[in-house]
Amino acid sequence: MQRFDVIVVGGGPAGAVTARVAAAAGASVLVLERRARIEEPSACAGLISPRTLSVLGASEACVIRRLRSVTFHAPGGGSLSVRATSDRALVVDRSVLEQELLARAAEAGADVRLGATATGWRDGIVRFDSPGGEGAASCAVLVGADGPESQVASWSGVRVASGELRAIQVEIELPPGEVDNVHVFVGRRVAPGFFAWSIPAQDRRFRVGLAVGTGVDPAPHLEALLAARFPEGRIVSRVKGVIPLAPGGRIAGDGVLLVGDAAAHVKPLSGGGLYFGGLCARAAGRAAAAAAATGDRLAPLRHYQDACRQLIGAETRFGATVRSIRDALDDEEWNNVLAILDDPDLLALVAERIDLDHLRHMVPHVVGHPRLWRTLLRLWEVVRAHAGDASASDVLGVAPPHDEFL
Ligand SMILES: Cc1cc2nc3c(=O)[nH]c(=O)nc-3n(C[C@H](O)[C@H](O)[C@H](O)COP(=O)(O)OP(=O)(O)OC[C@H]3O[C@@H](n4cnc5c(N)ncnc54)[C@H](O)[C@@H]3O)c2cc1C
Repeated sequence: MQRFDVIVVGGGPAGAVTARVAAAAGASVLVLERRARIEEPSACAGLISPRTLSVLGASEACVIRRLRSVTFHAPGGGSLSVRATSDRALVVDRSVLEQELLARAAEAGADVRLGATATGWRDGIVRFDSPGGEGAASCAVLVGADGPESQVASWSGVRVASGELRAIQVEIELPPGEVDNVHVFVGRRVAPGFFAWSIPAQDRRFRVGLAVGTGVDPAPHLEALLAARFPEGRIVSRVKGVIPLAPGGRIAGDGVLLVGDAAAHVKPLSGGGLYFGGLCARAAGRAAAAAAATGDRLAPLRHYQDACRQLIGAETRFGATVRSIRDALDDEEWNNVLAILDDPDLLALVAERIDLDHLRHMVPHVVGHPRLWRTLLRLWEVVRAHAGDASASDVLGVAPPHDEFL
């Protein structure tokens, strides 16, 4: 039986980056990826910050658009736009990105096997089905990079998933028109428990999708959105997916760690996982290599869990608090919130400061801007109605205003 220092189950972005970093650190690495070919369409809108590419260690070959504006649509028909003066987001071709990441893992020395499905793990031995038949290999460290419905998580008992969003997305072709704008549709009727989006892709294609809370079927909501907003759209492809929630559980144990969606390394507000997953995958690769090299299957992996908390913990907590407030709003309140946010000073500041990966960093600028205090007080009223002063203070990082100001 072949023996590896590290076996990575899942050759998505998180698995490929983990494998590359572990191999570059000197570990012998096997990647098992069940897809026989890496191709579109994938369950991803492909919207990332420009820095995500360098975090993942990818070139710009996958970039199909550069974006600098977003329009939010309230349920009642109102809207507001933020238009930055420089590119703030990229739209990528996921398959080109993933092919490059896997090629880089292989260049670093990892043995990448496509069409190979891991079927079990016991006593350090991973079993798998591959085009060549059933196989088995042993390892010092097993990495679960097998996505939101991670089997490694259940084999190892490392983390129990406790929440998820169901997502659906189509790629549609539209008649010639605007191409450089992201649209976000909010409100319970549109997408209960999350939001809907439209993102320009290649040529006249757009990725239109939405996510909804547990127990809701996303399909009728997407049909309604397409009929209302994109009646001329010709559907080219359709995908479904799951976005994991509830991060913060145990993501490492004796000789095993989880990374990426398997560990819910996802931004709570947007559901984006490529940036957080990339950051944590680099830490995962280093930890897995260190555990294999030292024979200590516990300490480096525990250190990995702490490293993830340091890398994404504060932003995740901030996002989760804002999301819980956001999800409590009914459609009437959404109309009100978008009307409050439609303040030229606020929109100018957001346009200047917005950072998709670190929304929290914008808060001190907003709070410290005297011209925005009136807007903030109006927002505070909405937030405290749902979440109380404690959550509102958490989000804004300031004490609640005295009642006489409200
Ligand atoms: C509709 C939708 C839109 C999204 N849009 C965005 C976006 O715009 N920007 C963004 O940053 N994020 C987005 N995300 C989230 C993003 O797609 C994920 O966070 C990201 O794919 C996570 O990468 P990963 O490598 O952890 O997992 P995955 O990409 O899910 O990769 C897991 C891999 O493991 C393989 N696998 C699973 N089980 C096994 C097994 N037993 N054996 C072998 N292989 C196995 C799978 O085939 C897969 O290739 C979106 C998600 C959805 C659902």
